[in-house]
Amino acid sequence: MTFEEIKNDEQKYMMHTYGRFQTAIVSGKGATAVGVSGEKYIDFTSGIGVNCLGYCDDGWVKAVTLQAAAVQHISNLYYSPLQTEVSKKLCELTGMDKVFLCNSGAEANECAIKIARKYSFDKYGQGRQKILTLVNSFHGRTVTTLAATGQDVFHNYFFPFTEGFDYVTANDVSDLESKFTDDVCAVFIELVQGEGGVMPLSQEFVDAAAGLCTEKDVLLMIDEVQTGVSRTGTVYCYEQYGIQPDVITSAKGLGGGVPIGACICNAKLSDVMTAGTHGTTFGGNPIACAAAKEVLSRVTTKEFLEEVNKKGEYIRKKLSSMPDVREVRGKGLMIGIVTEKDDAKEVAAKCVENGLLILTAKNLLRLLPPLNISYEEIDEGLSVLEKVMSD
Ligand SMILES: *Cc1c(COP(=O)(O)O)cnc(C)c1O
Repeated sequence: MTFEEIKNDEQKYMMHTYGRFQTAIVSGKGATAVGVSGEKYIDFTSGIGVNCLGYCDDGWVKAVTLQAAAVQHISNLYYSPLQTEVSKKLCELTGMDKVFLCNSGAEANECAIKIARKYSFDKYGQGRQKILTLVNSFHGRTVTTLAATGQDVFHNYFFPFTEGFDYVTANDVSDLESKFTDDVCAVFIELVQGEGGVMPLSQEFVDAAAGLCTEKDVLLMIDEVQTGVSRTGTVYCYEQYGIQPDVITSAKGLGGGVPIGACICNAKLSDVMTAGTHGTTFGGNPIACAAAKEVLSRVTTKEFLEEVNKKGEYIRKKLSSMPDVREVRGKGLMIGIVTEKDDAKEVAAKCVENGLLILTAKNLLRLLPPLNISYEEIDEGLSVLEKVMSD
């Protein structure tokens, strides 16, 4: 098939929910993707932070294929040693107590929202159900996670949305205090707003949120769907803020390219979700768990994390001397670039024509390269970006 044929069939047979870049990807290795005509791209996207070990990493392929040949799915009516291994590893890495395995970021967030509401209901009864999220946040595409998402553009068409969310301006402590009413049961935030424009929260704001949560027995829940699994230079981003959340959600990079999500809670919440209160058919799928086991064993070592941070600094330094770059922000290998000409969308589209896959977030360019990207691939990708920005 040619690119034009694929494009035509996409128009004809698929719902038009995506604005796509003008290429079709058919294979890849490391941080290099191959298009349908055999053309090569350096990939600074990892499929939006998913392929954390790049395309078709040898260890990852082995883990997934061996598992596919052993057992591809069992229902959650049976015990699974892979589910328990992944859950144990997540608890060890976070110091938390219990895990629910699911298939996506939105699902992990749905679980967090249910935990918050039930914890509060069990302890305080009805009327304490409000969850504070942030303006410009992104928490997913289900009707409830859209309601949790603090952006008006997402609150259209699909009425009625789930009630019980209010939105605090990020880094505005007085706004947080004024919205922290007695009906609040949880604060649910990203520490670096991803889709919202690679915007890190201030230490002061996070400290204020954590303080109020402790004082009022309100759950502190961190959406680590994008920031987690070593993306920001620590296994989870909350470590860098010196806080201990009650709940964290993880997905995107967790399976290195297969769908898996996790909602992880602390000991205070261990018994909130009882038999029959939550469940999933696919969640904790053995192939997904085999992939997550491989990913977690690889990306969480001290040496690996040092490399992530070094590469992040290397990229930031090079970017800061490029034309059209006004500001570089983010943490680790989650990097946002504010351009002088405010032309991120055009730059991203032109990069594809020149052999580089790159993301945008709001009006920023966004880089989420594979965590194990080589320096050669970094240099090659950055030289394309520099060329496009100089035009
Ligand atoms: C991508 C993302 C989600 C949604 O994840 P899906 O797997 O697409 O459901 C939720 N929260 C954050 C912070 C994200 O970046």
